[in-house]
Amino acid sequence: MSEVKMEDIVSLAKRRGFVFQASEIYGGLAGFYDYGPLGVELANNIKQLWWQAMVREHDNIFGVDGTIIQNPKLWEASGHVAGFTDPLVDCKSCGARHRADHLADTDSTDLNELKELLKDKACPTCGKKTLMEPRKYNMMMKTWVGPVEDESSISYLRPETAGSIFINYENVRETMRAKLPFGIAQIGKAFRNEISPRDFIFRVRELEQMEMQYFIKPDIQQEVYERWREFAWKFLTERLGIAEDNLKWHEHDVKERAHYAAAAHDIYFKYPQGFKELWGTHNRTDFDLSNHSRVSGKDLSYFDEESKERFTPYVIESSVGVGRMLLAVLVDAYHEEEINGETRVVLKLAAHLAPYRVAVSPLLKNKPELVEKAKEVYQMLKKEFGNVMWDDNGNIGKRYRRQDEIGTPYCVVIDFDTLADNTVTIRDRDTTEQKRVEIKDVISSVS
Ligand code: ATP
Repeated sequence: MSEVKMEDIVSLAKRRGFVFQASEIYGGLAGFYDYGPLGVELANNIKQLWWQAMVREHDNIFGVDGTIIQNPKLWEASGHVAGFTDPLVDCKSCGARHRADHLADTDSTDLNELKELLKDKACPTCGKKTLMEPRKYNMMMKTWVGPVEDESSISYLRPETAGSIFINYENVRETMRAKLPFGIAQIGKAFRNEISPRDFIFRVRELEQMEMQYFIKPDIQQEVYERWREFAWKFLTERLGIAEDNLKWHEHDVKERAHYAAAAHDIYFKYPQGFKELWGTHNRTDFDLSNHSRVSGKDLSYFDEESKERFTPYVIESSVGVGRMLLAVLVDAYHEEEINGETRVVLKLAAHLAPYRVAVSPLLKNKPELVEKAKEVYQMLKKEFGNVMWDDNGNIGKRYRRQDEIGTPYCVVIDFDTLADNTVTIRDRDTTEQKRVEIKDVISSVS
């Protein structure tokens, strides 16, 4: 199949109510997107699957839900105030700002290296060779807490959810009587004042992350790191059904790694703009707990009763964005197919991800006896699955096209034969085949 284009995904997302530009009637706001009725269903299905695989299927992983704003000392201790930066380059002529590493087409964030690479580059906005020296730019969003807006009340919107996990490490360990190794997981919003948000929901300024920090004795770091890499790969391929050809590994070299990481492997997905980071696995060593111990004065070391040793736990982190995962799912599922000389767009989503599992239609909406029977079937399915759509708009062909585009795996149609013999037509999204099934067997047929 041909390559999926971003404009097709953006257009489908808007046309069918998955994703809208935030503040659209005011001209939008760069880097912010709202999820519509179908997008929120898809995102919720993704989050639930992750929570199931991460928290519910592990006896030693516990969930938390921390606040977006915490004591700003957290971000000093974690190194984000000093080090959560991206390299920025300004254009002297037009004032445009660009991500220096993106412009230089490199993974490196080393300022000297970037200066060298950008020496002869022109500004992509005005075309002039007037780029200034690259410099570091802090991406944390600031606000004030309380009525006085001064230095002492500055706080930050969290740039990653991990922070509130580290500072709750001791609370969770104590309340759950947890012994190493154990993990803490969280799904929540994070904010990054990205220099150039782009590629639809791939790089945004308000994002949602699903993160898990796994606390361990340092001597098992390698095997645990490998295990969480494998978890991420399996989740994408087996639970989300993403094609392996659309995924690849990328190992960070020293210059690319975040300030806290000793090792980092990303899974890249083949987005329309190319292979890009989707999910990171990082070895954060004892960086965070040591720093929080030092700055807060609270001892966060761990006493291992077996070896009688005291040490600061290491952390292996698994971190992925909900929006990037949702975009990957849409791109992977998007197909254009020729059927009877017509092109149909179909989202081949796994049934457990689809916003609606099944759509129910009366063949004709102006025949009360068909509508009544169809409502009965609709109620029966709604009780079973919850996410069932009533669709009586336009003719049957149009309804199928609409359901194909939003990834509904099955359409159930009630016609005049139904009134005579209690059978309905079930149409399969992927094969477009139709079969007659008795009403009592509909639930098992679409399960
Ligand atoms: P990138 O290099 O693309 O800026 P990153 O290495 O800074 O990403 P991490 O800090 O490792 O990303 O964040 C963990 C995950 O959060 C990423 O793998 C990604 O899925 C998601 N993420 C990070 N930044 C953004 C963003 N601006 N918009 C959407 N998702 C993001």
